[in-house]
Amino acid sequence: MIEDKNQQKTPLSDLGEFGLIEHLTKNFKIKQSSTIKGIGDDAAVLNFDSKNIVVTTDLLVEGVHFDLGYMPLKHLGYKAVMINLSDVYAMNAIATQVTVSIAVSNRFPLEALEDLYSGIETAANIYNVDVIGGDTTSSNTGLLISVTAIGELEKDSEVYRSGAKVNDLLVLTGDVGGAYMGLQVLEREKEVYKVNPNNQPDLEPYTYIVERQLKPEARKDVIPLLKDLGVKPTSMIDVSDGLSSEIMHLCKESRLGCDLYENKIPLDPQVISVCEEFNVDSTTIALNGGEDYELLFTVSQDDFPKIKGNPNFSVIGFMKEHEAGMHLVTRADTRIPLKAQGWKNFND
Ligand code: ADP
Ligand code: MG
Repeated sequence: MIEDKNQQKTPLSDLGEFGLIEHLTKNFKIKQSSTIKGIGDDAAVLNFDSKNIVVTTDLLVEGVHFDLGYMPLKHLGYKAVMINLSDVYAMNAIATQVTVSIAVSNRFPLEALEDLYSGIETAANIYNVDVIGGDTTSSNTGLLISVTAIGELEKDSEVYRSGAKVNDLLVLTGDVGGAYMGLQVLEREKEVYKVNPNNQPDLEPYTYIVERQLKPEARKDVIPLLKDLGVKPTSMIDVSDGLSSEIMHLCKESRLGCDLYENKIPLDPQVISVCEEFNVDSTTIALNGGEDYELLFTVSQDDFPKIKGNPNFSVIGFMKEHEAGMHLVTRADTRIPLKAQGWKNFND
């Protein structure tokens, strides 16, 4: 949020396009045996033997998906990789490679792109994926970053949104609502900073939720964990737009209804206290806040003993016939039809 005025600024024109690509990508090392050729030719070459592969892509636009006023570029690079890996894991696959394409205006010096790429590199190292290419171009306005992720899985181990069956349990990893409330805190602090730049924000009480917003982690761990437990989800999706909207996707694609129990939705204590501070209902935030990047899946009731008591998983409801509809069963035991307010990109 606070810029270091003494920091050295190198205009991108000093390097030229090829010099820039070379500079940004020189640290990337190949980690995956499926990567035959990475950065440096007209195309990367991959070999997955008898595996199936999954491919997913996301485009992030400055001012729409991120605000550099509180999003450090390093975190942006990390998050851009994370949101794609999350989609790979949601297919029950292991992520192996990413490509990164950027469009930058000349207001970004080299040092800014170095920060962006240090976040990308950190994510690639921690999540064991190769950066195998991309594209670099200029933009008249802001920064655009597009990441494509590739993953592999054994044949027939794909998990789609459409496979849930009646009476399957609805299971969520981690907790939800944190990333959204983290964003509320950051936006409030940004307003305070605008009024008085000497006013240093104290984010200490909000560490968990701010980190959920700025440095989300995709649930890489869940894929081998489910395999070890001998559980193959019948359907799965990652929680990017909000729990409510993701549940509705699973229901719609599987042609089912569901009951979701309000008292089973996992919330971090910090989310509960910040919801009180902001005077918003924590269930509304849990249902409609986005960007938690947890996994939501369904399992057969027969698999319940395998996941029961596991701290990674919360059973939050179960699937019903399509005709029963999709409902939130509240703490007061009333039934409210689920609505998807979704994430705000297209609504405001
Ligand atoms: P082309 O003209 O064939 O598109 P480029 O000069 O754009 O080739 O890219 C040269 C190499 O650098 C390619 O391997 C490409 O995938 C990679 N590359 C280009 N831009 C980026 C980037 N921003 N991040 C990572 N790799 C990149
Ligand atoms: Mg190119």
